[in-house]
Amino acid sequence: MIIIKPNYILTENELLKNRAIAFDKTIKSIDDFNILHVKYPDAKIVELEKNSLLMPGLINTHVHLEFSANKTSLEYGSFLPWLNSVIKNRDDLISTCNDECMKKAIDMMLHSGTTTFGAISSQGLDLNSAANAKQNVLFFNELIGSQAVMADALYGDFLERVDASKSIQREGFYPAVAIHSPYSVHPILIKRALEIAKNENLPLSAHFMESDAEKQWCENNCGEFATFFKEFLKQDYSVNTPDEFLSLFENSPALMTHVVQATKEQLQKLHDDGHTIIHCPVSNRLLGNGAIDLDVLESADIPWLCATDGLSSNYTLNLFEEMKIALFMHHGQDLLPFAKKLIHSVTCKAADALNLNTGYIKEGKNADMIILNLDEVPNEQLELHLILQQYKIQSVYINGKEAL
Ligand SMILES: [Zn+2]
Repeated sequence: MIIIKPNYILTENELLKNRAIAFDKTIKSIDDFNILHVKYPDAKIVELEKNSLLMPGLINTHVHLEFSANKTSLEYGSFLPWLNSVIKNRDDLISTCNDECMKKAIDMMLHSGTTTFGAISSQGLDLNSAANAKQNVLFFNELIGSQAVMADALYGDFLERVDASKSIQREGFYPAVAIHSPYSVHPILIKRALEIAKNENLPLSAHFMESDAEKQWCENNCGEFATFFKEFLKQDYSVNTPDEFLSLFENSPALMTHVVQATKEQLQKLHDDGHTIIHCPVSNRLLGNGAIDLDVLESADIPWLCATDGLSSNYTLNLFEEMKIALFMHHGQDLLPFAKKLIHSVTCKAADALNLNTGYIKEGKNADMIILNLDEVPNEQLELHLILQQYKIQSVYINGKEAL
């Protein structure tokens, strides 16, 4: 048992002053230090500096570790030129991103306060690094393949990767399934993978309506993707319309990533089927996909979470930086309430969406917590300043163990 004495504790809806927190793997009690000390006389006591703040560890629901070697190799500005640059540089990027490169990306997340992340794995090359990470990991084995003739081989490879991730037995590691997108996965494959996810209760993720090119291709079989598919795969039409894709997910709530180009009807369906939207503002800007309308999501009552995406479409995996970009991108939102929503989106709301016992500083929740030192006594705009100032993370606890 450990008792930490921070000056401040940021919970879901209040700032506690001069309270202590007792925990082992889970949070046991939040109370006056003297009361906790009597209750747990053998606990190790950790005294913190002036103006120290303890808050929930952050949850980054969408990252691609396998592409962490990219810094300046990929072409930004518009989706198809970016995708073509990924295809051109893919082998180089993947072969230069060894375990050390992926560990660097994982450490970048740890040092910026991320205690849980969702790794979208296209080849399983990141399994070892994710297994060895100190964080909680949702390991999303991604299925891709639009051609029926390749379906069995691709599905076999996918199953092998799912099995390999299931063999990782450690606290806080969860095998999961990702479907790449409506334009890149044959409906037969989607059905088979969703069945596995359902039977084995595995978390689900997908990219959906990211770019205008995707929208034009999936809805009308035209636009920039028409040339792309003809050239690379001799395909004249999209394997799924957006509506067909969503109907496959009717009973499978998922993390639907990007969703910048979805129609009102598609958003209604996302709401009705219990999906959560993952918003990656930096990635959307760099790939020329526009800014999602959060007002529309909120009026349709669809939960959304902020995430970084991978280093193939971002310059950092720091969620505080990502929230800062979101803060400026969505300039119509009221500043302080929006800062609070952003912090909730990477803590309690993310935990709710993933059904994980984390994301809250609350008795019974896993002790996934970060500690930082504020420069000054916090005021009523604390959440805004947390995002703007990016205070150094002093220590990190994951499942009650000191990870930093
Ligand atoms: Zn992605």
